[in-house]
Amino acid sequence: RSAALLERQERRESNARTYPRRLPIAIAEASGPWVRDLDGNVFIDFLSGAGVLSLGHNHPALVDAVTRQLASLTHGLDFPTPAKDAFVEAQLSMLPPSMRDRTKVHLCGPTGANAVDAAVKLCKTATGRGDIVAFQGAFHGSSHAAMALTGLVAQKQPVPGGMPGVHFFPYSYCSRCPLALTPETCETNCVAFLERALRDGNGGVPRPAAVVLELVQGEGGVIPARPAFVTRVRELTRELGVPLVVDEVQTGCGRTGTWFAFEQYGIEPDVVVASKALSGIGTPVAMIFYDRRLDVWAPGAHTGTFRGNQLAFAAGTEAVRLVRDEDVLGNVRARAAQIEDRLAELKNFPHVREVRGLGMMWGVELAGPEDGRPAAGLARAVQSHALRHGLIVELGGREDCVVRMLPPLNTTADVVDAACGILLDAVEAAEA
Ligand code: PMP
Repeated sequence: RSAALLERQERRESNARTYPRRLPIAIAEASGPWVRDLDGNVFIDFLSGAGVLSLGHNHPALVDAVTRQLASLTHGLDFPTPAKDAFVEAQLSMLPPSMRDRTKVHLCGPTGANAVDAAVKLCKTATGRGDIVAFQGAFHGSSHAAMALTGLVAQKQPVPGGMPGVHFFPYSYCSRCPLALTPETCETNCVAFLERALRDGNGGVPRPAAVVLELVQGEGGVIPARPAFVTRVRELTRELGVPLVVDEVQTGCGRTGTWFAFEQYGIEPDVVVASKALSGIGTPVAMIFYDRRLDVWAPGAHTGTFRGNQLAFAAGTEAVRLVRDEDVLGNVRARAAQIEDRLAELKNFPHVREVRGLGMMWGVELAGPEDGRPAAGLARAVQSHALRHGLIVELGGREDCVVRMLPPLNTTADVVDAACGILLDAVEAAEA
């Protein structure tokens, strides 16, 4: 039955679809970390709607919150409503205390790309400058501007033109450093390129309106930025008066073990972009948090129809309550340690180049044992073996050779154990 539906979709929909190509199932229903396909097969879902379903599918408390809201108000444009007020209050309460009073928010949904666009547009308006610095391997979305900031070349190459004034710099991807430096021999060399370019009046990069950074590149292959790299980017941007935008669309809302990843890096950004897991249940919403010094937009300067999704607000407020009351972040840290432990075994496999992760974002990078070349075919074989044995995982990375897991943040130890077992078997089988 899955195959029949897939075939119908294949005939009628755009060729651009991705997920069913590598995960050929049609989903009938889901609950918590479980997904059931149309044929009754059950899978552990460690894709979590691309990191959206932070509390798993259909969390009963979130379903309740949405159902209650559905009966009173669904769409509110940008009028004040109690649901929106409670949501914004809940979101601000999750920021570090030192940021709360100086932070303003703009609801700019419904997708992550919309919020990235808004962040960049705001920084351009506030600084009066037009250039943007972004990083190699980053992913910021598929809208035209977000794509322009995306440093995954394969996604952009087929699209002629582009956005002028975007400059890419190296990101601290140490295991594939073109200079063959290691974290031990290099903590901040990537930033040195950026620093040189920004300070060089002779052919360097003009002072940009913003530096846009993912703290863990997700689509780019689950690459946590080196802490010293992030510290230096923050020092440099602060010194030069350049707003630092962190894209926490994927890392945000608890995914890395703190509400936002920047907390673990000991920095305070000027703009934070959030979306995916804000509502916890997939009702779309996106927003930016920014320093009030950047509050320069005149009324009507950045409008949009879908920024008043009351269902998302109601769910998001409840999601914050659950994360607090049920110590979900504590669970993320405990399960992260468990995953790290279980996946340590993978380091003995010849094709496993690196196992990386932070919180509930994990990646296993596969490469040729002799030449170190990215092994995309092997990654696909791992994904498909895992699916056949009941585990949904995603691929990513600059060369599509990273097997990625984004488990729900409230996943239990048993489910993590089962999933890691399937993944270990899948790598072993694919290598054989
Ligand atoms: N930024 C990051 C870091 C992301 O991971 C994504 C989505 N994978 C986006 C932006 C774009 O979000 P959306 O697909 O909702 O536009």
